[in-house]
Amino acid sequence: MTDRAAPNAQGDLPTSELLVHGQRILAWIATYLDHPERYPVLSPLAPGDVRRSLPDAPPAAGESLDRILADFESKILPGITHWNHPGFFAYFSISASIPGILAELLIAALDVNAMLWKTSPAATELEALAMSWLRQLIGLNDEWFGLINDTASISTLLALAAAREAKPDLAIRGRGMAGRSDLPVLRVYCSEHAHSSVEKGALTLGFGLENVVKIAVDDAYRMLPERLADAMAADRSAGMLPLACVATVGTTSTSSIDPVPEIAAICTRERVWLHVDGSYGGVAAVSPKFRHVLAGIEGADSLVINPHKWLFTPIDCSAFYTRHPHVLKRAFSLVPEYLVTREQDEVVNLMDYGVQLGRRFRALKLWMVMRAFGADGLAARLERHCELARRFSEWVCEADGWEVAAPTPLSLVCFRYAPLGTSEDERERLNMAILQCVNESGDAYLSHTKLAGKYVLRLAVGNIRTEEQHVARAWELLRAAAQRMSA
Ligand SMILES: *Cc1c(COP(=O)(O)O)cnc(C)c1O
Repeated sequence: MTDRAAPNAQGDLPTSELLVHGQRILAWIATYLDHPERYPVLSPLAPGDVRRSLPDAPPAAGESLDRILADFESKILPGITHWNHPGFFAYFSISASIPGILAELLIAALDVNAMLWKTSPAATELEALAMSWLRQLIGLNDEWFGLINDTASISTLLALAAAREAKPDLAIRGRGMAGRSDLPVLRVYCSEHAHSSVEKGALTLGFGLENVVKIAVDDAYRMLPERLADAMAADRSAGMLPLACVATVGTTSTSSIDPVPEIAAICTRERVWLHVDGSYGGVAAVSPKFRHVLAGIEGADSLVINPHKWLFTPIDCSAFYTRHPHVLKRAFSLVPEYLVTREQDEVVNLMDYGVQLGRRFRALKLWMVMRAFGADGLAARLERHCELARRFSEWVCEADGWEVAAPTPLSLVCFRYAPLGTSEDERERLNMAILQCVNESGDAYLSHTKLAGKYVLRLAVGNIRTEEQHVARAWELLRAAAQRMSA
């Protein structure tokens, strides 16, 4: 009996299906990218809608790709919030560019697991090369070792684990932390505006949430270095051990940039590991005009930037750099017999530098994106986004009743509607209502934050297809909503 006679019994689908449906899917993607306005940016569905539209149990017999793709269009797509839409301005907008999308297809086709150099030399070596290229693009010298993680949250977790391993006297790798009277309390510092991933890392590593010390910020939401120094001194005199500090380049609420040079000087003096979280903002250094965002980086021990956030690479792709790869390796390397290879002393085996064994071939997409756009093309796109944000903030400044709520160093604008004669409570209600109204339009999606207790709106430009018309449309919707609320 041939395979053909029992298509469900064994083997993959025939490659003829790949050709037919692959062409259909590519055509669908092209139309999707050309006409994003066909879909509302924010999915209008209610909780449970998608789940209810699909069968509870898997099919016993295989189904045709025709039927599956029809359900993708009719049942899955309505439940999609379109992060790849140029009207997406919420959180930090991201984009899957065409070279990145094509790379993902190749990555899936090869299905490489880059856990060891030997399990795909090109995957490990291209990761080193892509990290070197990106390092050069952001102006880091060659002391930095880089690898790719899924997310910044994991990169920051690795940084905190390395910080702990950098104090070998603590002997935590072998002995753990529980039940030990000889261990001091370990303290981690970040600003009030640091990302929640710092706390998640601390709780994962068993430092305890109460040992993440939140340092106050100035009126531009930047960490106050003198407060950091005071907090470390107070902790030391209480018998605790300052272990790590996380400075943020581009905070999540306002994109403020902590003063890394001053913070680095304190951390060097105190022998504290300095990790810089530049998940969004650090990417700006790809443009020579914004290279200053990484000022002082030579005094840091590790850095994360997210190409999946603002460098047109499909999620997931987070670039983690450290000047102390041997410390990271000491924290995580563990080689069971079945993973021993002949050349392990000559090569980098990426499994030695983190928690997980299996590793996607993410380097291919980052490498293809960097090649397809080039350093100048990437920089021009980032500069354009900052320019669009600057223009939007000017419109806000000039409009009656509107105000910009924080400095705009990069491509994120914090602002609100605050007409004269309204109370803070009324302003909060107004801005919440405006946000809901704009997000229900389907043309734009914005998010909010609170700054010094005040509810403010955020417009983050970062999608590769966003143009002035999309920002202008968001502004038109905002003003129309405000007018309706005030009427
Ligand atoms: C987005 C962001 C993160 C989290 O990124 P993930 O890759 O989703 O984990 C961390 N820090 C900052 C400053 C961010 O902007």
